[in-house]
Amino acid sequence: MNTTQQENLLEVNNLKTYYPIKGGILQRTVGHVKAVDDVSFEIKKGETLGLVGESGCGKSTTGRTILQLQNATEGEIIFNGEDISQLRGGKLRKIRRDFQMIFQDPYSSLNPKQMVGDIISEPVLNYERVNKKKLKEEMMDLLIKVGLPHDAYYKYPHEFSGGQRQRIGIARALALRPKLIIADEPVSALDVSVQSQVLNLLKELQEQFDLTYLFIAHDLSVVKHMSDRIGVMYLGGLVEIADKESMYEEPLHPYTQALISAIPEPDPRKKTERIILQGDVPSPANPPTGCPFHPRCAHAKPECKQKKPILKEVKSGHQVACHLY
Ligand code: SF4
Repeated sequence: MNTTQQENLLEVNNLKTYYPIKGGILQRTVGHVKAVDDVSFEIKKGETLGLVGESGCGKSTTGRTILQLQNATEGEIIFNGEDISQLRGGKLRKIRRDFQMIFQDPYSSLNPKQMVGDIISEPVLNYERVNKKKLKEEMMDLLIKVGLPHDAYYKYPHEFSGGQRQRIGIARALALRPKLIIADEPVSALDVSVQSQVLNLLKELQEQFDLTYLFIAHDLSVVKHMSDRIGVMYLGGLVEIADKESMYEEPLHPYTQALISAIPEPDPRKKTERIILQGDVPSPANPPTGCPFHPRCAHAKPECKQKKPILKEVKSGHQVACHLY
């Protein structure tokens, strides 16, 4: 194992998640929705990788497949040096405690009939035989760490605001002291006024708990705030991946350029030209030939309709899938 591999907490190699399309009287498989189509990336220990793209681009399915909430069709998911993509049963269960998810909707992801203390203790009780008194003290301590009062332990989800409920969801995700957190649009259901509080909390907790994040969002300002590196997805594939500075200062892929041009510029004196994308995202059940972005790309050339570009490094640490480079 070389040093680079040692530093990676997660490596995803050629990951594919396809859903069969059934048709005809016999309900035979007549095609596939290629929700995730040959995606590869790595996340180093302690790093935050942001995954962005429009709704339906496959970013959430990528997260769910890594967590094995969804079976991979093909590919490797190497966590801490071990390929976990084929693990099942007890072995999968054992490794699963090391990665947790924070969901988009704090309203629906918490059981309204359970006391907060029970909600956040549940993952621990599923894995360990523990002294109940000690666990209660630990969970109260955890509530304080996520910015809630310790007596939140005795309350129910409906007694909290949206931001506070997301803090409960974060406490639940941290209860098992995981190594990797996959946060799927963790602030998009919250009021703008509380979004930055929750994002700052996630950053503080990352230091405190030595966490690695895969941060999934459609909002590029949010991803910029959180991430060290960023991957841009389009129609099930990664089209660009780079560190935050290169991605925002010099986006290479025409799709990334359009997404970044749509971020509101806080300084009205700075003139920025917004690139308006034509057309809608095509269906992943019937993707275009060649470059999947070609029907919407202002720079498309004949080659783009024939040949699918592969992700390649064009500058140090900056990879793009586009025939222009
Ligand atoms: Fe546009 Fe061609 Fe690049 Fe695709 S490969 S993004 S169509 S220029």
